[in-house]
Amino acid sequence: MPDDSIKKAPNFIRNIIRKDLETNKWDGRVQTRFPPEPNGYLHIGHAKAICLNFGLAREFNGSCNLRFDDTNPLKEEEEYIHSIIEDVKWLGFDIEGHVFYASDYFQQMYDYAVELIQKGLAYVDDLTADEIREYRGTLTEPGKESPFRNRSAEENLDLFIRMKNGEFPDGSKVLRAKIDMSSGNINMRDPVMYRVLHASHHRSGDQWCVYPMYDWAHGLEDSIEHITHSICTLEFEDHRPLYDWYLDALKIHHPQQIEFARLNLTYTIMSKRKLLQLVREGHVNGWDDPRMPTISGMRRRGYTPEAIRSLAERIGVAKRDSMVDMALLEFCVREDLNKNAPRYMGVLNPLKVIIINYPDHCEHLDCVNNPENPESGTRKVPFSREIYIEREDFREDPPKKFFRLAPGREVRLRYAYFIKCVEVIKDKKTGEIQQIHCTYDPATRGGDAPDGRKVKATLHWVSVHHALSAKIRLYDRLFTIPDPGNAEKDYLEYLNPGSLKTVEARIEPSLQGIEPGTRIQFERKGYFCVDSDSKDHRLIFNQTVTLRDTWAKLEQKK
Ligand code: ATP
Ligand code: MG
Repeated sequence: MPDDSIKKAPNFIRNIIRKDLETNKWDGRVQTRFPPEPNGYLHIGHAKAICLNFGLAREFNGSCNLRFDDTNPLKEEEEYIHSIIEDVKWLGFDIEGHVFYASDYFQQMYDYAVELIQKGLAYVDDLTADEIREYRGTLTEPGKESPFRNRSAEENLDLFIRMKNGEFPDGSKVLRAKIDMSSGNINMRDPVMYRVLHASHHRSGDQWCVYPMYDWAHGLEDSIEHITHSICTLEFEDHRPLYDWYLDALKIHHPQQIEFARLNLTYTIMSKRKLLQLVREGHVNGWDDPRMPTISGMRRRGYTPEAIRSLAERIGVAKRDSMVDMALLEFCVREDLNKNAPRYMGVLNPLKVIIINYPDHCEHLDCVNNPENPESGTRKVPFSREIYIEREDFREDPPKKFFRLAPGREVRLRYAYFIKCVEVIKDKKTGEIQQIHCTYDPATRGGDAPDGRKVKATLHWVSVHHALSAKIRLYDRLFTIPDPGNAEKDYLEYLNPGSLKTVEARIEPSLQGIEPGTRIQFERKGYFCVDSDSKDHRLIFNQTVTLRDTWAKLEQKK
């Protein structure tokens, strides 16, 4: 996958790895991991973490594990596992032989917990969840020690084994690390390692009724897999001392945890909980709705893995949270599709044109498939006496800067002829324009006039009797404001009611049989992707991105 053309932005983690390789810190190894919890579909923020972890591993001849952090049986589902695997592969990363499950380490984690109990570094606590919270203290006040804190190692071990054996009800006991109730870092105030939970796990079934907490489990997973660089988002910075404490206490392989800023994107949200709500409450049509910031949504919309990887590389990796403009992602998509998407003609809002001096026959005109790629060749498109043009390409009373078709005016039909409007036919009752009559100049075949006369506009068109029908979904931002997740009102208040519009378009016949997933450009209209539900007799396209580049303009203004 040659991504060499992409400008690489600063990435401080890349520098750390370079240095570690120079000093031979990990015997020259680079082993990273991407550890999603299978409780939702992946989004573009996850894509940043995937590109970072898999990308760095590839760059430095290391490897990256896809690890399901499946330690919470209550929220996790098989469906999510499948979608995550599909998304990582689609992004272009090889996970063959590198898929791991935290649940496979439950026994090992349990054994490590026993070890800490024996070392006097963990104890069973009978306080309720509320009491534990109360005893924990606050940022300004130290915590209080639990009355159960000084149980003997024997008693703790006996209780922990009985917790595991299912003798106690949910919530009645926990295992805690014995660290420091007065630590300035609340995460170090005797954090909970295990809870009793009588729940069936999607992989381990009913084998366990104690489940490990995130902080305890995560470092062990990294250690067991011999991770070298454990890359996570900034909110884990305060958890790092705990990550280090567990691994030091056990004296086992100890990766370096490195935190980076998460990706936020304008006009959307990145919280899995909120994305789940959008799906459950039907605000969108599923996780892969093309308006969603999910990888599956973006795939369905027509975004390419190349574009997403390019975004990840351009934004770089930093220590400060920031908001990335959606226009930059769209720029990356456009840049890729401009090179690779074949061009077609399609009329989204048809207006009939009758070319009154054109004979009653059909001819096939040569159209260029992709002007950016000379090797892509040409195709034949039928032209006839009756064609459709875009309704907004005609104005009866053209305003000053409108150069397209108007009464008495001549324009070019792309790859066809010059036409001139001679008559406007309207509905007598409503006054709505029904069709327009034009004449054509046979000498302009192919689109230029031999006498050198110029026109100011070139319109796309399709032949009425040859065109196919297609349903086209046009998308706008899902939210009306740049940061709905941090706004005054509930984020749902900012859903854009016009984020999806559907039109019935007329498109050129060469699109017959086009495969779902194919990305094309409709000339002058933008990029579109054939929807996964599209069938030969019912073509459906999703608008991927318009042709207008707002990002380059923003950059110029800076
Ligand atoms: P939660 O933990 O609330 O369920 P999460 O988004 O952190 O949500 P995980 O499944 O834990 O979900 O994420 C997997 C990995 O992706 C983590 O390493 C996390 O740091 C990273 N990640 C999640 N969101 C982003 C983001 N917006 N930008 C960059 N990386 C992210
Ligand atoms: Mg997380």
